[in-house]
Amino acid sequence: TQEDEEYVKDLYQGVIDGKRGSLAKAITLVESTHPKKQELAQVLLGDVLKYNKEREQRAGVQNYTFRIGLSGPPGAGKSTFIEAFGKFLTKQGHKCAVLAVDPSSSQTGGSLLGDKTRMPELSCDPNAYIRPSPSKGSLGGVTRTTNEAIVVCEAAGYDIILVETVGVGQSEFVVSNMVDMFCLLIPPAGGDELQGIKKGIVEVADIVAVNKCDGDLIPAANRIQMEYISAVKYMRPRSAVWKPQVLRISSLTKEGIPELWKNMLDFKTSAAMAGEFTTKRKRQHKVWMWNYIRDHIMELFMKHQLVREMIEEVESKVQKGEVTPGKGADELLGRFVKDV
Ligand code: GDP
Repeated sequence: TQEDEEYVKDLYQGVIDGKRGSLAKAITLVESTHPKKQELAQVLLGDVLKYNKEREQRAGVQNYTFRIGLSGPPGAGKSTFIEAFGKFLTKQGHKCAVLAVDPSSSQTGGSLLGDKTRMPELSCDPNAYIRPSPSKGSLGGVTRTTNEAIVVCEAAGYDIILVETVGVGQSEFVVSNMVDMFCLLIPPAGGDELQGIKKGIVEVADIVAVNKCDGDLIPAANRIQMEYISAVKYMRPRSAVWKPQVLRISSLTKEGIPELWKNMLDFKTSAAMAGEFTTKRKRQHKVWMWNYIRDHIMELFMKHQLVREMIEEVESKVQKGEVTPGKGADELLGRFVKDV
């Protein structure tokens, strides 16, 4: 309707004017699961993507926005780091948005990541915008809406987007699919938990930052740095122009943060010059579309009346071993597919 059109137009204007209220409303709109709102969100996103594309064409790839993924186990110092790093960036004239991907928040209903109280100074900074993880939906849903929040923030003038996630599950892989560079933050402590992290996440990390390299923790930080240097050495290279770096930082004393940033910029420059930066973003657009499809199909499936009537029964048969999981899936899918 005319009213809807006006609404989206105003929202779009507010976003590109850099109004925080409009930005927040726009992200809420893209996160909405309401079909009508989703439709409006698509109109808004169409405008936003067009705006971003024009700006990118004017700016050239070296001046594209920079999307940085950040992951690390609980207690690694992510919020302390983001507070220090974010302030460092805004002091240099950047505008920094912090988004969180926290699939666990869909179970607990709350969101720990992106909680503003974890970054008290940055959350008061007029050049920073902090947004907690959407608490509804699956990891796939959270991923898709985060993708969209990223481009909305960029249209609002944020040139650096930090996407934070906990480094314990699947979420870092989906985050690595929506950012230009992925940074793993680790504390200077060993243990089984870190061994698990080493195998999985290190593979997607472009930079490993050993945090808390201060005071009594310096020797441990040095040790962990050596361990990770040898771990990344044997990884299959993902880029022709970049070897993952392992750096030491302290989010408390802020030592190492300027060097870390310089490293990140080196990554960006070399990826841009080699053409990898834009290739990656194009590939990510494709992933983004498939996330939509997966989400949408799942939603239709779960809403399908005949399927719903059967789910409990089939699940129970599968659990008891009366039906194999594959046959159970066939049974449900059969009911679904008949209709499409
Ligand atoms: P998160 O769970 O990854 O967000 O970790 P937090 O940022 O909440 O930090 C966990 C604890 O580590 C807090 O007590 C911080 O004060 C502490 N911490 C964070 N960064 C540093 C650092 O660089 N040096 C030291 N010594 N402590 C730190």
